[in-house]
Amino acid sequence: MTGETITDSPATYAGTTDAATLAERSEGWRDRYTAAMMLTFAPPRAMLVRGAGCYVWDENGTEYLDFLAGIAVNSLGHAHPEMVAAVSAQVGTLAHISNYFASPSQIELAERLKRITGAGPAGRVYFCNSGAEANEAAFKLARLNIGSEPGRPRTRILSLHESFHGRTMGALALSGKPAMRAPFLPVPGGVEHIHATFEALEAAIDDTVAALFLEPVQGEAGVIDLPDGFLRRARELCTRHGVLLILDEVQTGAGRTGDWFAYQHDGILPDAISIAKGIGGGVPIGALVTFGATSELFQRGQHGSTFGGNPLATTTANTVLGIIERDGLVANAARRGEQLRDLILGFDSPHILEVRGRGLLLGIGLAEPVALKLADAALEAGLIINAANESTIRLAPPLIVGEAELAEFGRRFGLALASL
Ligand SMILES: *Cc1c(COP(=O)(O)O)cnc(C)c1O
Repeated sequence: MTGETITDSPATYAGTTDAATLAERSEGWRDRYTAAMMLTFAPPRAMLVRGAGCYVWDENGTEYLDFLAGIAVNSLGHAHPEMVAAVSAQVGTLAHISNYFASPSQIELAERLKRITGAGPAGRVYFCNSGAEANEAAFKLARLNIGSEPGRPRTRILSLHESFHGRTMGALALSGKPAMRAPFLPVPGGVEHIHATFEALEAAIDDTVAALFLEPVQGEAGVIDLPDGFLRRARELCTRHGVLLILDEVQTGAGRTGDWFAYQHDGILPDAISIAKGIGGGVPIGALVTFGATSELFQRGQHGSTFGGNPLATTTANTVLGIIERDGLVANAARRGEQLRDLILGFDSPHILEVRGRGLLLGIGLAEPVALKLADAALEAGLIINAANESTIRLAPPLIVGEAELAEFGRRFGLALASL
């Protein structure tokens, strides 16, 4: 014990909005963060204590329009009343039970995911808790696709340069970012990274490949779109050579790109997808969804997770996806995304080169490496946006975003741009 005395009651840890209490609990937070937290993250940009809809507030009551949504997580914005009610009711009924037992919400969510992904009757769902974990499951799935040719096993896994699939060892092996991997070698082997070109794809795929991993839009790389027709060509080649096409829809899924999942824009079906982020609306959940015969690869005892698919997480995701469906938020993402793109291009600023991405996952390509400066200026103007890299601003507002929030974005982003 360090001798620090805990004087508050446990109840004060939840949902405090009292200004005096917040001020007291936030006192000296920057130094305390630095002293107590692992050094893995850059210093936080602000302390946030409350949210409602597309807005959040810091400990001093300063308001921010949130156009990052916890990195494409808060699909329904903050403190959505129906989500609050569902989560609260479930926690007050049954939160966790282990996978020795089933729960109605777990089965319902699996059925819902089979429906909205188009995985169909043969599809199956495995639940976990994050994007990296979903990709770990996908990695193991790929290893199970050993092929049927004796003496010519499928030992290779393909993934793209610059791709991001998460921070655990398998996900790091898949990610096309050597610098991220370097301190932690060796990572699991057999992964080859290729460029997102038709030539590279055609040269790399043959009967020795077990799986091809792709993000339909590379979010972390700076919201980079795949070349037109790339997914369809990948589907053709994977089908021809018995390669699993595994799509990482962790960032692009749950309606964000203006379709439930980004591959649906291309009219193809993958063999598996990893999902997380937006499906839980802020409560951690991840999943691997398999299509067709791929669903029979995993056998009993080959994978598992203590928390995966618990009643709390699956009730939440069911509620979030149900609201997205009922309120037409997938179509809203498509429509507002177009408006947002037009709004940004309408600034006619020498700093803005292009807008990439789709729906409400947009990347603003900047002419100079000023993304961090612009994100800081935006924060000053009461707007949360993200510098995905030094020359890209990433926008991923909640799917509930409307006319009023877009107008407010325009005002605050305009102020930030003008200050560059
Ligand atoms: C965020 C992300 C991940 C990792 O998800 P975590 O929940 O942080 O583990 C994996 N893939 C993509 C495409 C992501 O955007």
